[in-house]
Amino acid sequence: SSVSHDPQCIFCKIIAGEIPSKKVYEDEDIFAFHDINPWAPVHFLMVPKRHIASMAQVQASDAPWLGKIMAKAPELALQMGCNPYPEGGFRIVVNTGEEGGQEVHHLHVHVMGGPRPWLKG
Ligand code: 5GP
Ligand code: ZN
Repeated sequence: SSVSHDPQCIFCKIIAGEIPSKKVYEDEDIFAFHDINPWAPVHFLMVPKRHIASMAQVQASDAPWLGKIMAKAPELALQMGCNPYPEGGFRIVVNTGEEGGQEVHHLHVHVMGGPRPWLKG
């Protein structure tokens, strides 16, 4: 397979089960788990199993797993307790690089939702 593992990477360790996480979903290409420090009532992360540092490294050949993450996110969002569109919904964020607010350098898609009465617009 094309799966590569960076032994220094915290998310590679989570994918390998070397660090415990609350798993949301897993298949041969992608892994999803609860964010340890949620910013919203529903907040989970979706990552490729293959180690890739960020969106800045993404190439056309990454389209299959990237597409899989984006296509799976709405289903998992509902499963995790997000309310249905359009009253409910969710927010997808991919922090990229220092100025993009990225702290963990294994590409991850934040999926956030649930009732947030303080959020306007
Ligand atoms: P970033 O700022 O890189 O986009 O977000 C990294 C996210 O990973 C943060 O929201 C943080 O709470 C989460 N995170 C960091 N370390 C761990 C961990 O060991 N386990 C889990 N489940 N989430 C983590
Ligand atoms: Zn990694």
